[in-house]
Amino acid sequence: MKKQYVYGIIASCLFLTSVIGCSSKESKDSTNQNGSVSIVTTLYPLEDFAKKIGGSHVQVTNVVPAGTESHDFEPSAKDLAKLSKANIFLYHGSGFESWTEKAVSNLDKSKTKIVNASDGLTLDEGSKGDHNHSHDHEGMDPHLWLDPTLAKKESRKIYDAIVSADPAHKEEYTKNFTELEKQFDQLDVEFQTMAKKATKKEFVTSHAAFSYLAHRYGLKQISISGLSPEDEPTPKELKAIIDEVKEHQVKYIFFETLVSGKMADVVKNEVKAEALILNPLEGLTAEEIKSKQDYFSVMRKNKENLAKALGAM
Ligand SMILES: [Zn+2]
Repeated sequence: MKKQYVYGIIASCLFLTSVIGCSSKESKDSTNQNGSVSIVTTLYPLEDFAKKIGGSHVQVTNVVPAGTESHDFEPSAKDLAKLSKANIFLYHGSGFESWTEKAVSNLDKSKTKIVNASDGLTLDEGSKGDHNHSHDHEGMDPHLWLDPTLAKKESRKIYDAIVSADPAHKEEYTKNFTELEKQFDQLDVEFQTMAKKATKKEFVTSHAAFSYLAHRYGLKQISISGLSPEDEPTPKELKAIIDEVKEHQVKYIFFETLVSGKMADVVKNEVKAEALILNPLEGLTAEEIKSKQDYFSVMRKNKENLAKALGAM
């Protein structure tokens, strides 16, 4: 099959050369010299989805190094140079990476396709019915990817961008994307099942990353810090959080893998709760990469830990 295909191309090239000249790139695509689509991204889940959709035809680089919390990442000149050479720059948007706005305005759009994965998908705070102690209300909540149904919509944008950069492999991309969609649907069903069994709706997180997830499954996030881990509560807010946690008789406080849980520790000790991990997937640790974790395995671990905290066993 493959051989025939290659012969077919050679044959049509020979024919075309005699008529109009033939280049190895017949379609007007935007792949790099070795024929693969180079994608630079800013957030682990986007990296994971792009790799799953693109398979062997894409080269995906995340500018945020492993083990780094991406909220406070600042790109180096070298990172920006990498960006300008990419076929696709895939960023999250909705205020997640404040540096991308300027970087995007400096890119040559005829060379680099720019994809804002969350464009048009964010809900405003009011319609989410969210209740957290964020004192920074100017920021939008960017953590869409923690709702599998929204992550699926983000990955559709990634699929569209990859197909338009490399239409020659559309069939393969479509197959991979269809498979990925199924995985999101399955994960969504699993979360729904867990949430239905939950005897408690409140869960306490260190930073306000899980309100989209809470909204999707009818749960309630009580966050100790705001939308960014650096956004720590004042002593007065901290006291209000501790009161609320006590009121709901919360037994577990969720910590993260990449940020220090100083404030969460204060609450945990005050209410004599236990610590569990809820991973906002803003980056994997070197260890998680080594043990081949991905978006789905981390989300399932999150689901198990949530089940424990919510009494959904
Ligand atoms: Zn965050």
